[in-house]
This record gives sequence, C-alpha cells and structure tokens, in this order.
Amino acid sequence: MNYSIALVPGDGIGPEVTGPAAEVLDAVGDKYGHVFNYVELMAGGKAIDACGEPLPPETLDAARQCDALLLGAVGGPQWEDLPGHLRPERALLGLRSGLEVFANLRPAVLLPQLRAACPLKDEALAVGHPEGKAAFDLLIVRELTGGLYFGKRGRIEESSNGHSPGAAFDTETYSWAEIERVLRSGYAAAAARWKKLCIVDKANVLESSRYWREVASVVSRDYPDIETSYMYVDNCAMQLVRAPGQFDVIVTSNLFGDILSDEASVLTGSIGMLPSASLGSPEAPLAKGGRPMGMYEPIHGSAPDIAGQDMANPLGTILSAAMMLRYSFALEREAREIEAAVNTVLDRGLRTRDIAGRGGGAGEKIIGTRAMGEAVVAAIGGL
Ligand code: NAD
Repeated sequence: MNYSIALVPGDGIGPEVTGPAAEVLDAVGDKYGHVFNYVELMAGGKAIDACGEPLPPETLDAARQCDALLLGAVGGPQWEDLPGHLRPERALLGLRSGLEVFANLRPAVLLPQLRAACPLKDEALAVGHPEGKAAFDLLIVRELTGGLYFGKRGRIEESSNGHSPGAAFDTETYSWAEIERVLRSGYAAAAARWKKLCIVDKANVLESSRYWREVASVVSRDYPDIETSYMYVDNCAMQLVRAPGQFDVIVTSNLFGDILSDEASVLTGSIGMLPSASLGSPEAPLAKGGRPMGMYEPIHGSAPDIAGQDMANPLGTILSAAMMLRYSFALEREAREIEAAVNTVLDRGLRTRDIAGRGGGAGEKIIGTRAMGEAVVAAIGGL
C-alpha cells in the first residue's frame, strides 16, 4: 500500500534525525511491500528565513493532504530574539492545533540495555513496580492544543516600578470537551496496558485543575475496569524520580506534560531516546487515508549544541516512526519490527554518545547519527 508522509525536518539536528527515520521506514516498506512517499515541508527557523513566518500556510495545507506527519525539531539561538508570534516554536503549536492533534502520547520505558544510563538505584525502580522489578514502562498523555500554551496572553501596559510594560500574563483555560477527549485517549491507552490511570494536576491551587477533576469524575464512570487516581504535579515530579515503576498512564495538561516528560526522559538514559505521537480523534478532520491525523516527533528539541556534528541520537525519531506505523497506518507488525531492530542494535552495544558509557562502557561502541540509522536499517534487513 502507498502512504504519504509530510516530512518536516526543521532546524538543528532535525534533518539529521529525520533522514535516518525515513530510511528505516523505507527498509520496513521494502520488506513488507509498502511505499512511503515523503512530502518535504518547511517549518520553524528555516521557514522564517525563507518566507518570514514559522509556519507558512502552504505547509499546513500540504500536511493536511498527507496521511501523517513526521517532524524533527525546530528552533535555535539565531531566532531567539524574535517576538513570540514569530519564533520557530510557533510552528509546532500551529501544526498541532491546525491538525487538531490534541493527545500527545509520550512513552518512557527503561530498556534493559540502558539500565546503567538510568540514574536511579534498583531499590527506587523496584518500589511501586507491580512485580517489584527494577524497571518502568510508563506513558504520559499530554493535552496538546489547549491550556497555558494556547490561552490568552499579553502585557499590561501600565508601568510599575518604572518598568513599562509593567506586567505580563498567560492564562490556563480548558473546556469540558477538551478535557474529556484527552481523558478518553488516556483511558483507551490504559485499557491496552495495566489499567491504571493517574491524573496529574495542581487541584490544591488551580481552578482549572479542579475542573479537570470534575470532568474526570464523570468520564471515569465509563471505565470501571481502570483504576483512576489523582496526584499533584509537584508530588508527581518527585514520585517520578523516587519510584517511577508505580505509574502506568499519566494524563495531564499541556504545561505539566511538557515538563514531566522531559523529567521522565532522563530516567530512560537520554532525551534522544523518547518518541511521541500526537493524535486527533475520529471527530477531528481525518487524514487522507480516512484515519485520524497523527503527528510524530521525538520529544527533544533541535539541540543546537551538537547540530551538524553527526552526534545526535536518531532513535527517538526512529521510534516515533514506529508509532506512526502503529497509530496512523495500523501496521502493528511493521511497528514492532522497528522496535525490535532498535533493541537489536542496542544489544550489539551500539551507542550514540548520549547513551554511551554510563555503565562503564564495556562492550559498547560509540557511533554517529548516520551509522546508528544504518545499523537499524541493517537489523531490519536481518543482516
Ligand atoms: P534540546 O532538547 O534541544 O536539548 C537539550 C539537551 O539534550 C542538549 O544538551 C542536547 O544536546 C541534548 N539532546 C537533545 N536531543 C538529543 C539527541 N537526539 N541526541 C543527543 N542529545 C540530544 O532542548 P533545548 O536545548 O532546551 O532547546 C534547543 C532548541 O530546541 C530551542 O530553540 C528550543 O526552543 C527548541 N525545542 C524544540 C522542540 C521541538 O521542536 N519539538 C522541543 C524542545 C525544544
């Protein structure tokens, strides 16, 4: 079958990690008889340089015509002084809201090969793990198109203390419908896992969090098999480093999910390992293939400090491509093939610099971005 993929390499290490991911997709396609056609699109800093805006309307229009979107990362120091609405990161927000992908699934799994790269002791990992193992496999479902990142914001012009503008504000607003749909995404994910869902908020302080709980108290009734719990975000930040094994699915707001998933990434060894999928629902406009739109990207940024040096870890993007096969194209076997290939290269001791040597480095070989991509391709070919 043929699939069209909007490919947005972006800035910094973005093109370095999307290139190998596309090669891995092609390898799986060759093996199982699928053709992936890429439509390369511009967004972020590159788009600002080329056309003066981070998300040219043509990019969004073209993305909507594709079956799914794969993105590297956007941003960099050269665009940091631009006003907020012109910064590269606005492209991400525009794509997410324009494609109506409101549920951002961010798995954080400790792979046994990277155990030594996780800074936690076995005791901490085993606490709360259902089988007492030194491991964790959690999924953060982050609301992606609402909350603080999309709320009313501005400056208050009156001067205070001689400064003008005298203040600035952002607002957190969530509608019942926005909360309900992301909760249902979380419950659907939990149903296919260990049936535990933890809603993370700041209900002791924030009205919007108390409203999340009201919605959850109603929605949870539809999922009697799933254990629903609530946790304040400050406690969750602590529990993630104290006993991450206790979590199955965490559902949370845009802001909290952004921060907690970066924290969780450190426990997996490196931010370069973590994939993500951003999904719409059957009610949102459907992608060309008739399925809900999906946008796939590693959780890391454009890493300007290592850009252009063949040092970036492409595995988060490669695993994002696997999520694309699973969620957008329903190609579960092919998704597993990519995940197994990643496991194989790690078993062989192949490491990019960010995941190397934390356990002494015995039997490890440090390789670059391109070589890591080639190793995954070779593992798919069974070489
Ligand atoms: P970052 O994720 O780019 O980098 C944080 C640290 O992690 C750096 O030391 C970097 O070298 C390392 N790192 C990140 N990805 C890696 C990979 N694949 N392999 C190895 N090491 C990796 O975050 P930052 O430094 O805060 O942001 C840099 C730029 O990226 C900023 O302009 C920021 O706005 C942007 N950003 C974009 C996205 C996105 O496009 N989704 C997300 C976050 C940040």
